[in-house]
Amino acid sequence: MNALSSHAVPTGVFDHPEFRNHESVCFVSDPATGLKAIIAIHDTTLGPSLGGCRVWPYASGAEALTDALRLSRGMTYKNALAGLDLGGGKAVILADPRKDKTSDMMRAFGSYVERLSGSYITAEDVGVSPSDMEAVAERTAHVRGTRDTGLGDPSPYTALGVFVGIQAAARHALGSADLDGLSVSVQGLGHVGFDLCGRLQAAGAKLIVSDIHAPSVEKAIEVFGATAVPAAQAHQVQADIFAPCALGGGLNSETIPALKAGIVAGAANNQLMTAEDGLALKARGILYAPDYAINAGGVISIALSRPGESDALVVEQTQAIGATLTRIFERAAAENLTPEVVADRMAEERLAKP
Ligand code: NAD
Repeated sequence: MNALSSHAVPTGVFDHPEFRNHESVCFVSDPATGLKAIIAIHDTTLGPSLGGCRVWPYASGAEALTDALRLSRGMTYKNALAGLDLGGGKAVILADPRKDKTSDMMRAFGSYVERLSGSYITAEDVGVSPSDMEAVAERTAHVRGTRDTGLGDPSPYTALGVFVGIQAAARHALGSADLDGLSVSVQGLGHVGFDLCGRLQAAGAKLIVSDIHAPSVEKAIEVFGATAVPAAQAHQVQADIFAPCALGGGLNSETIPALKAGIVAGAANNQLMTAEDGLALKARGILYAPDYAINAGGVISIALSRPGESDALVVEQTQAIGATLTRIFERAAAENLTPEVVADRMAEERLAKP
């Protein structure tokens, strides 16, 4: 036995627990601007990889790698299920967006995206602003989601997709897509949540709203006549539908037993803390709309919009989220599976037959 085999082998990409045959993982360093980034391309079976660029003060390179591997794979599934001819990729920049990020750093990032010759297309994500993306676009054409490349802010389309997803869930669980008179607890009144409230109100739903940012709650009361509850109680109020539109991880072993709604359908990413939480929802007879299926309107708008064109195609494809969710719910019921497992299978089936 040599010295190396008697010790733990250093963890690299190929033996990383989140590695799932990613096509390429690019480590980027530009000392002149302080840029340190990882660009992960998971799968390009359906087309070039598309996924946002996240700027985050990761505690370590290992943490950033975990995020890049996990998020890029998530984009493969999301883009496949949304019917887009795009693969999955993601970039993470290791920096504090408030302290470290500069235009030069973003321009340098753009140069590295350009080197990938279009196999990775970038867009905004957490910690990245429209002006950052303008800096990136100075160095590469492989950018989407800006005003120059299409419709700009994807949030209204995300909200539209969540709205039609809620209708599909209501049709499946309650026998009708008519939301008139149903109560919806919307948790998080940001870009997506607030827009969603407007659509729900127009459909006659009764709104129960919450946010940790008090002015957003006051505005929702004023604009929609909504009833407010403390943010920590959003999941446990008496409502027909719970729509998580804040942060991920909200469906877990503490919150699920307290849920009163029969439907969970909202915009937040990574809503289930663990796979067991999906089973727990099923065991309680609560219908869950898989997050990456229902919140795909944003990526659809980023992928399909072109400058100067109407949003008709984006709206049509976003409204198709309702039909996709109906297929997911029906198959989950027929095969006695959870909706999120069916969503994964449907994405994998599309990848297997591109
Ligand atoms: P946002 O930052 O505009 O809004 C989030 C809101 O949630 C804020 O008002 C914030 O104060 C509130 N919030 C944070 N923690 C909370 C808590 N514990 N309880 C209640 N409220 C809380 O974000 P957004 O763009 O509206 O996105 C909302 C969610 O949807 C996020 O999970 C995001 O990843 C996901 N998503 C957004 C889009 C999009 O197009 N914007 C697309 C796909 C998924």
